[in-house]
Amino acid sequence: QDGEVGKAQQAAAAGEKAGGQPTIFSKIIDRTIPATILYEDDKCLVFRDVAPQAPVHFLVIPKRPIPRISHVVPQDTELLGHLMVVAARMAQAEGLADGYRLVINDGKHGAQSVYHLHLHVLGGRQMGWPPG
Ligand code: ADP
Repeated sequence: QDGEVGKAQQAAAAGEKAGGQPTIFSKIIDRTIPATILYEDDKCLVFRDVAPQAPVHFLVIPKRPIPRISHVVPQDTELLGHLMVVAARMAQAEGLADGYRLVINDGKHGAQSVYHLHLHVLGGRQMGWPPG
């Protein structure tokens, strides 16, 4: 299958095999590869998506590489809350006063392609519902 879903399905298969190896996002965290970083603290990093799907599209990731939302445990509660609070604050800083969309893709059916948990923040245009 072509496109984003096909890529995500390939990545899901590769991710299963790799079993939680470092992803490209680890390299963004350690500055091995460049990204437009908007915010950083001891627990998370925020950077622009390289293939934006809206006028504003950035990602909020934990520095600790949790592979996917379906793998979280109760001990992750505070960290996950922090990611959402940072997402909301950054959306405000990016001028998304008319609203925005937060998305977490999980696994093959969720079209996840990078197996380092990330929160998408999309805005600057009218979103549709339901999502594809
Ligand atoms: P999908 O690719 O289906 O959106 P994900 O939810 O796993 O799946 O999203 C991964 C996101 O990471 C994509 O939006 C992709 O554009 C983005 N991305 C991949 N590589 C980089 C990179 N080097 N810098 C910034 N964003 C990236």
